[in-house]
Amino acid sequence: MKNQVLHWADTFALQIINKKGEKPLYVCAAGITPSGTVHIGNFREMISVDLIVRALRDMGKQVRFIFSWDDFDVFRKVPANMPQKEMLQTHLRRPITVVPDPFGEEESYARHNEQEVEKLLPLVGIRPEFIYQAARYAAGDYAESMRHALINLQTIKNILNEHRTEELPADWWPVSVFCTSCLKDTTKISDWDGEYGFSYRCSSCGNSETLDLRQARTAKLFWRVDFPMRWQYEKVDFEPGGKEHHSAGGSFDTASQIVSRVFDYEAPVTFKYDFIRIKGGGGKISSSSGNVISLGDVLEIYQPEIVRYLFAGTRPNSEFAVSFDLDVLKIYEDYDKCERIYFGAEEVGEKRRQKEKRIYELSQVDKVPAKLPAQIPLRHLCNLLQINEGDIEAALAAVPGETDERLRTRARCAWNWIVGYAPGEFRFRLRKDPRQVITLTDSQAGAVAGLYTLLAREFASLSEKSLSEAIYTLAQDNGLEPKDFFKVLYRILIDKEMGPRLAGFILTIGRDKILPLLQPYGKNAHSE
Ligand SMILES: [Zn+2]
Repeated sequence: MKNQVLHWADTFALQIINKKGEKPLYVCAAGITPSGTVHIGNFREMISVDLIVRALRDMGKQVRFIFSWDDFDVFRKVPANMPQKEMLQTHLRRPITVVPDPFGEEESYARHNEQEVEKLLPLVGIRPEFIYQAARYAAGDYAESMRHALINLQTIKNILNEHRTEELPADWWPVSVFCTSCLKDTTKISDWDGEYGFSYRCSSCGNSETLDLRQARTAKLFWRVDFPMRWQYEKVDFEPGGKEHHSAGGSFDTASQIVSRVFDYEAPVTFKYDFIRIKGGGGKISSSSGNVISLGDVLEIYQPEIVRYLFAGTRPNSEFAVSFDLDVLKIYEDYDKCERIYFGAEEVGEKRRQKEKRIYELSQVDKVPAKLPAQIPLRHLCNLLQINEGDIEAALAAVPGETDERLRTRARCAWNWIVGYAPGEFRFRLRKDPRQVITLTDSQAGAVAGLYTLLAREFASLSEKSLSEAIYTLAQDNGLEPKDFFKVLYRILIDKEMGPRLAGFILTIGRDKILPLLQPYGKNAHSE
């Protein structure tokens, strides 16, 4: 291992093996409450665990990757981005698994939010075993654990009270219950018989009854107890936590004490992951979705490998931004460079090479490609797509070499970005009707006519450099400032004052599309 640059996922994997010892099976866990649209910050939980799971598997370990949906949580608040707010309002205080799906598609509100994520995760190569907490509680799987927590009530209370400014009330229980009549959590446990029997009263509907933990389908552990209980129940070796849960006295802290003192299990290895910021995106993001950016939104702009790359390339304890602005171009460039380094197509120092190689491996959805895939820089692809008005096949046909599925995905992302997020100065439309002639001075018309003649005769043999030089010469010969000539050409081609770098742009547009646009100004030249 000397001199080897370790990726952070490999470092944590080694730490897990060190702390938990050699085991036939390691359990890595993630968990999220689907109480609203699962956002890209939540996604950091899933991908963090996936990266650790891959690191362990690459070390030859067997790993179980579990993902718990905390869907027995109570519906506390109607999120801003949901339809049917009034209907949802009437279901507050009920478990999110009994709240109807406001989109009318899934069996419940919780299921809708879960489904949105579950269908996308395989696209980014994440395939955990899903656990549904509501179903587990309803099946009675945690009856023994709840009884155990009730027996250890005082120990649990003492641990929680250590970190509270105000002590838990005398009648606090680690178990709560949804009323079986009105389904709300507006209940108070009044009695526990020391075994499985308990009684409660509901303040919403007045219902009171006595239930058995083994049959009660609606009792559950307080979340700060549920969390460590699950570590023991599933024998979890690793679980990360968001910044907000990882402070002193936070849920990880109290869970670690509860799991060892009450459930007789050693807390898993963990790390804290930081928040994700969103950069750019302007009006579209804030208005249409109530500011919630989901994995689906990010996958519209970034191909799956690059979504993984963003997270694999950043240490979990650093905050970073998922960008929707011009940085998108730079991120694609960085990824392409990482790919070239992996395949030895770009030379860098040994340390950098090792680092980038591992990031590249962890960024792949499935296997690493056998050879360097075809690359088209995003900026170039955006120009091609705009020239072809979003026709992906036509844009890709203009590129030499083979076209694969990755490139197609990249092209879809590029077009989504142009349409939805690219700044105005980056967007253009090739003028459609060549008859829309703009008025030029004699010297401007002369320069354009000269360019027309040059392109008509020599297009195939022009390079970006030779064409660029020719444009400067044409401007000079006709007594124009080069920048004025550029403006004239941009107005003719895209009806704007500026655009992509001109010589390369003309070559990208192609002979067949550019000649008709210049032709009205090149009549004299043409008739020569
Ligand atoms: Zn009730």
